[in-house]
Amino acid sequence: MQQSRQKKTEPELQLWEITAPKRKPAQRQPRAGRPVQSIRRRKAKKRRAILIRCLVLTLFLLFLAGIFQLTGLIYRSIHSGKHDDAASVWQKVLPVQSDTANPIEKPLFTVDLLEVNNYSRPGTKLKKVKNIFVHYTANPGTSAKQNKSYFANLAETGERSASAHFIIGYEGEILQCIPLEEQAYAVKGRNNDSVSIECCYLDADGAFTQSTRDSLIDLLAWLCGEYGLTEQDILRHYDAGGKKCPLYYVEHEDEWEQLIKDVGAVLQDASH
Ligand SMILES: [Zn+2]
Repeated sequence: MQQSRQKKTEPELQLWEITAPKRKPAQRQPRAGRPVQSIRRRKAKKRRAILIRCLVLTLFLLFLAGIFQLTGLIYRSIHSGKHDDAASVWQKVLPVQSDTANPIEKPLFTVDLLEVNNYSRPGTKLKKVKNIFVHYTANPGTSAKQNKSYFANLAETGERSASAHFIIGYEGEILQCIPLEEQAYAVKGRNNDSVSIECCYLDADGAFTQSTRDSLIDLLAWLCGEYGLTEQDILRHYDAGGKKCPLYYVEHEDEWEQLIKDVGAVLQDASH
């Protein structure tokens, strides 16, 4: 009996011992099912996050490349060609002038711009240039600098509206006081499609000195080249409204014609 009892109890113990480890994996399975799914989900999430990061990085690199190219383009547009001052930079960037390269050498001039104001530099864009007007200051013996100061003071006094893109002194010095992309107050009704040059002089008859005349020819020829104009597009203020400006060249038609011919000769030389 004792033996049979022992025999009975032994298999019970064995059964428990055998079934016990069998139960464990059975118990684990339902628990392990969920983590496998969540691990997969987490992995997918991770993959998505990596993909998004890669995409963002690619976009950022493309953006950087774009910026780099744009900077290079601007740099090249500024530094290409023979022009190197601030005014020329704008001439390159803005399509006011003709696209073809100017065959005429740019004369030396000082850029001393007026502040934008209602009486001498309105800041209005100059979108096209059909003519170049020549003026005289109507103030004998005054220098280019003095005439520029006069234009600048109009902002304070407001006594009248007047200005020009360039002033040529009686010693031949050229001063630019309005950018070529903006309108001057020089010729009533024509400020929106022309460039103006004021000339200083010494004698009461308004005749220009040889230096002024030489600089004027150089500047006129260069401007013609910039805008694709001919010497026939150069006018006296007188030709648009009848004002006796420039006095000497209104009273001496032949001298005016000679001046135009001289500009024509410079243009002709450059085209060969
Ligand atoms: Zn005038």
